Amino acid sequence: MLSCLKVAMSVYTCISCRVAFADGEVQRAHYKSDWHRYNLKRKVADMPAVTAENFQERVLAQRKSDEQQLSDAAATAGCAVCGKKFSSANAHRNHLQSHKHQQAEKQALLAAQRKVEKMNEKNLEKGLGDEKEDRDARNEALRQEAEGAARQKAEKTEKAEFPPRLMWLEEQAKRRGTEDGATAVQA
Ligand SMILES: [Zn+2]
Ligand SMILES: [Zn+2]
Repeated sequence: MLSCLKVAMSVYTCISCRVAFADGEVQRAHYKSDWHRYNLKRKVADMPAVTAENFQERVLAQRKSDEQQLSDAAATAGCAVCGKKFSSANAHRNHLQSHKHQQAEKQALLAAQRKVEKMNEKNLEKGLGDEKEDRDARNEALRQEAEGAARQKAEKTEKAEFPPRLMWLEEQAKRRGTEDGATAVQA
């Protein structure tokens, strides 16, 4: 370890941390380290410097405490899946490992997946391929409508060519013809 070097024997040292370095590069790197910054703060507060090992321990302890606080917060927030709240992080952890919760989580996951699938289906419906089909169907309907209108217009024109009275006469003539034929057969 670099810190094992005798400070007095090296030119590269940090007075604040009471440590010596093999060369200037390591020294510059040290000045950027969290450990060094920590000791600078302690120096300002008139507190003794801590060793690298001690600093490492403090970092780990802090991390553990942060994690504990996080899990405490999670315990207070409770389980959103099951709608449960817990008095301690331990109770929360036990719940998360329980069969009941894991089943509920599985169900929630499946439901979420179905939701995503449905959303994907909807997006597909809105997709380009189907939009084209939609447009085709609409165009076909419009074409049929236009054809129908044209046919109706043509029929109207035909009827207009035969005035009502003429049509009546024609029908009378047809009926007479049938009657005549029937008579002829009977005669
Ligand atoms: Zn230092
Ligand atoms: Zn749960």
